[in-house]
Amino acid sequence: MSVPDRDAAVALLRDAHEAVLVCHVAPDGDALGSMLALGQALRRRGTRVWCSWGEPALVVPEAYAFLPAQDLLVAPDAVPAAPALLVTLDSSSPDRLGLLADRLDTAGCVLVVDHHTAGEPFGDVRLVDPTAAATVVLVADLLDALGAEIDLDVATCLYTGLVTDTGSFRHASTTPSVHALAARLLAAGVRQDLVAQSVWDSNPFGYLSALGAACSAAVLEPDAVGGHGLVWSHLSDAQLSAAGVGLADVEGVIDVLRTAREAEVAVVLKQEPGGALRVSTRSRGAVDVGAVCGALGGGGHRFAAGFTCTGDVETTMALLRDALATAPRA
Ligand code: 5GP
Ligand code: MN
Repeated sequence: MSVPDRDAAVALLRDAHEAVLVCHVAPDGDALGSMLALGQALRRRGTRVWCSWGEPALVVPEAYAFLPAQDLLVAPDAVPAAPALLVTLDSSSPDRLGLLADRLDTAGCVLVVDHHTAGEPFGDVRLVDPTAAATVVLVADLLDALGAEIDLDVATCLYTGLVTDTGSFRHASTTPSVHALAARLLAAGVRQDLVAQSVWDSNPFGYLSALGAACSAAVLEPDAVGGHGLVWSHLSDAQLSAAGVGLADVEGVIDVLRTAREAEVAVVLKQEPGGALRVSTRSRGAVDVGAVCGALGGGGHRFAAGFTCTGDVETTMALLRDALATAPRA
C-alpha cells in the first residue's frame, strides 16, 4: 500500500456525492463489516450510498443478522448502472463481484479496498495491504482520516470483520495493533459476547448432522502435501438438503476438520444447489494454499483460501492433490 493511494482513497471518499459499495459474493464477516461500516460513515457525511453484492437475492447469513445499517443494502439490480464512485471491499478479483462485476466498466472511478495477497490488479485507486489482518482495518484507518466518528454501530461492523478474519484473534495476523483496534472498538461499547455468540456459537440444529456426515466421511492422507498430510471431506447438495441447511450454515465444518493434527492441510468440498463445488482450504502454516487456489481459479490468503469448480469430487481432489504436492512453502 503506497501513501499516495491512501491519500487518493481519502480524497475520493471525502468528495463523493454518491458511492456504490460492493463486497464479495457469499459475504463473510469482513466483507459485510467493512462495507456496512464505510457505508454508515459515508451516509452520515451526506453521501448517497448503496451497498450490495453480486448475487440475485441478498440474504444476509443468519450469523451476521445482528449487523446494523442493513437498510443500506440493495439488490444488485437496484444498484445504479453507472455510479460516479464504486468502492469494492474485501474482493481480490473482478469475478468476486459476481453480477456486479460489470460496474467496473461503467463506474466513473473504482476504489479497491482489500487485504488479499493474490488476485489481478483492477480499479483506479488501490488501497490494498496484504499485511492487514482484515479489510476492516483499512476501513478504520480511512474513517480516522475522514474524521468520521466510530460510534457503536460502526464499531460493531468493524469488530465483526476483525474477529472473523483473525479467527477470534488466533491467526498469525493478530498483531498488537489488531488488539489495539479491538480495544478501541470495545471501548465504543461493542458487545463482543453477543457477536461471538452469533458468529461462532449459534447454528441451526441441522448443522450438527451435516457436521457429523462430514466428519464421518473425512479422509486422512498422511503422504499428501509432500508428506505433510491432508485431511478432507465433502458435503453433497443432497446431504445439505437432508440436514435442512444451506452452504452458509456449514462454514464452520472446515474449522473442525482442520484440527486433525496429522494433517497440514484441510479441505472441505461443498456442493452448491446447481452442482458446482465450493472448495475451502486451510493450511497450518507450512504451505501457501492461497497460491494453490489461485492457480485453480480461486484465491484467498496464504493459510485460508478457496475456489469454485464444476468437476466432480474425485476429479477435483485429484487436481488439488497434485497442486498441493508441489505447493509453494509459506
Ligand atoms: P472460505 O473457505 O472461508 O470460503 O474462504 C477462505 C478465503 O478464501 C476467504 O478469504 C475467501 O474470500 C477466499 N475465497 C474462497 N473462495 C474463493 C474463490 O472462489 N475465489 C477467490 N478469489 N477467493 C476465494
Ligand atoms: Mn477479509
